[in-house]
Formats: sequence, C-alpha cells, structure tokens
Amino acid sequence: MLTTLKQMLAPARAQHYAVPAFDCVEDVMVRAILETAERLRSPVILMGLPSDLEGNGMAYLAGLVGAVAKRHAIPVTLHLDHTNDLDCVRAAIDLGFTSVMVDGSCLPFAENVALTRAAVGLAHPHGVSVEGELGHVGGMDLEARECAESVLTEPAEVRRFVEETGVDALAVSIGTAHGVYRSLPKLAIGRLAELDAASAVPLVLHGDRERRRRNSGRRSPMESAR
Ligand SMILES: [Zn+2]
Repeated sequence: MLTTLKQMLAPARAQHYAVPAFDCVEDVMVRAILETAERLRSPVILMGLPSDLEGNGMAYLAGLVGAVAKRHAIPVTLHLDHTNDLDCVRAAIDLGFTSVMVDGSCLPFAENVALTRAAVGLAHPHGVSVEGELGHVGGMDLEARECAESVLTEPAEVRRFVEETGVDALAVSIGTAHGVYRSLPKLAIGRLAELDAASAVPLVLHGDRERRRRNSGRRSPMESAR
C-alpha cells in the first residue's frame, strides 16, 4: 500500500528500525525491489532522481508504482530524490508522489531554510511528506560528476532547521558518501547520536551501503535510510 514518508518513518523511529530506500527508473527495478521487500516483510521507499526521470519518466514511475503498490501488503513510499527545483516538486505532487526531498544542502543555512520551507508549503496541503538536508553528503553523482565535498551536520543547527522548515525527515551528513567510494568513509557515529537527540523528526542517511568489493566490482545503488 502507498503511504507517506512521515507515516512510514514514525513507527520505524519509535521501534528503532531502519527502512531501505532505492533509486529506480523502470518496471523491472520496481518489481525486484517490491517483491524482495515483500518477501522480507520490510517497508520500502522507492525513489526517483529527477535526472533519471526526464521527459515522461516521472509520469511512468508514478503511474507504475501507483498501480502496483496496492498489490503489496508492505508500506511503500514513492519519493522524489534530490531536487532543488520547486517546479519539479509541484510536478511530483501532481503525479501522486507521496514524498519529496528538497536538497538545499549546498546553500547557506538561511537559503536552505527558505527553499525547504517553500517545498513544505507546496507539499503539506496535499498530504505529501518533505525530506530536507542539513550539512552536505558529498561523493559522486550517478553521472560520475563530483559533488561538493561533504560537510558534517552541526547538531546545534538541527532543532532550528526542523522548526523553521516543518520538514518530516532530515538527511544528515556523518561521513557517508554518494556513488563509488574513492576511500572508505569514516562514520561519525557519536555525532549521529547527537543529531538524533537534537532532531524532532526521523533522520535519513544517504550514500551507498557497501563499498565496491575487491573482486566482484559489484555495488549497491542503495540509499540507506532512516
Ligand atoms: Zn542522496
């Protein structure tokens, strides 16, 4: 069944479990993710990146997930991943996405707040959840372009950011990285505990779950979550 990010993550936080999130672009990926999650009895977040959904991609993904989510007993969230474009947020809301991530993490604090609050103003009247990002998760994007360097999230800024934006979930930076790792990330687990204590909303961790294996070269497109 289709649900919002807020509804999905409330019991996860209360009962101390994480929910996985995967970027996907087409039917075979959606089917593999949903059938695996159902078999494991895990809620799951299906994400679409705007760069993967050009043209009619967003409509295809929303139509597909909207049609098949009801055939699964597990909670499913359809989430727009990483955008700083409010027109893109509007389009996702109109097409039936139940959650959006607005990423102002490369902006100064006040501008990040303004962008994120604007997205919340668009999304909440339609019952759509919003994830923001504070600090910045760096690495490489899917086209292997370099993102900005990581900036760890400051616990002292978290409460104000959540209060001023009204976000339903917050992506934080503790040393995870996007894309193929150039070196093994060092995770600031102590900082994660501080961020969790400072946050009124569930936290989101972006980045691949596992580094490239020495011999297989396989990697997971997973955005570990929540
Ligand atoms: Zn990400």
